[in-house]
Amino acid sequence: MLRFWTLEAGPWTLNMNAAVAPARRPIQTPPIPDSPFPYHPGSLLSVDDLALDEVSRILERATALDREDPLQRARILAKRRVALLFYESSTRTRTSFELAAKSLGADTTLISSLSSSIEKGESLKDTGLTIKALGAETIILRHNSSGAPWLLEEATRLPILNAGDGMHEHPTQALLDLRTILAHFDPQSRSCHPELSKNRHPERSRSAAQNGEVEGSAFPIVHVTADTLAGVTVTIVGDIQHSRVARSNMRLLPRLGGRVVLCGPPQLLPEIATQTGPGVSIERDFEAALRQSTVVMMLRIQAERLAGLQLDLDEYQAGYQLTGERLREFAPRALVLHPGPIIRGLELTAGVADGPQSAIVEQVRHGVAIRMAVVERALGAIPQKDRL
Ligand code: ASP
Repeated sequence: MLRFWTLEAGPWTLNMNAAVAPARRPIQTPPIPDSPFPYHPGSLLSVDDLALDEVSRILERATALDREDPLQRARILAKRRVALLFYESSTRTRTSFELAAKSLGADTTLISSLSSSIEKGESLKDTGLTIKALGAETIILRHNSSGAPWLLEEATRLPILNAGDGMHEHPTQALLDLRTILAHFDPQSRSCHPELSKNRHPERSRSAAQNGEVEGSAFPIVHVTADTLAGVTVTIVGDIQHSRVARSNMRLLPRLGGRVVLCGPPQLLPEIATQTGPGVSIERDFEAALRQSTVVMMLRIQAERLAGLQLDLDEYQAGYQLTGERLREFAPRALVLHPGPIIRGLELTAGVADGPQSAIVEQVRHGVAIRMAVVERALGAIPQKDRL
């Protein structure tokens, strides 16, 4: 029996007739600056804003902060004010940003679109100016519109951290994915070992786990260059079209020498995706893609963004679901990642999600370390005088 999944558009496209696929408006991506400037130097809007030595600096600080004594760590941003402004729901990103800021000693406040004046029609600009007037020193923004963090930066001149903007970018997710890959990466064989971080130094790993540290943080690679990931193939599978996680990874990983292979059906992966930049290619055959993979990154179908597109779920699962059999046969040594939320039984089976090749839960823990580093960076950077 065929199962079709017809998805209503979100509230921002209320007039769309869900039965007829609306003509897609061209996506206006914000201009990409050559350097972080003229944006606030503490902002993190896109992975393109980060030179490789800044990526290294963030990885280095993530590890240092992860290992820091919690009482010392709580002094770093003591009483500084961090606002989280969320127009979309979130579990991992919101909680990890909040815990990261709090563990550095900052005061945090959450403004979500469902319980604030945003519901009454207040604009992003006015909400941002209000939050700034209340004393926020940085704003962590998740928004359903691509480009919203740039507008907020322009309006408030505060350091803005992009926690996911529409179908555009999710820079901290790409950084935490990178940290997870590096924690399992063996530079000699140029491959990832799902068990590597646990097996190499079992003593260290055990005590790290007892201290709440991330597995693998005992031997991280924190200095990255243009060939750190040479020989590594990261296959991103599923709904690439609507995924900001895919976009940030496609922009970051090739800069470190990694190869990104995209895999999915044409409705969710248009040919134009390869134009994102060098090092990105498409392989429609999932099993052929798996055979090449060092890392397999599975994605959720972004139901909230499909706007009337119809998908035959049985066909999708037959072609692209990551099952234990597929993994054993075609990628028995690959590391399995997923940004979450995972839909067990759709893009991957429960056995794969909980299996020995999965680093999905570990990714969440790397997220806290990365977000400590970017919140510290946001509040530690000195604003450019000429912009104020
Ligand atoms: N959590 C990720 C995001 O916010 C992935 C997802 O929602 O599927 O983009």
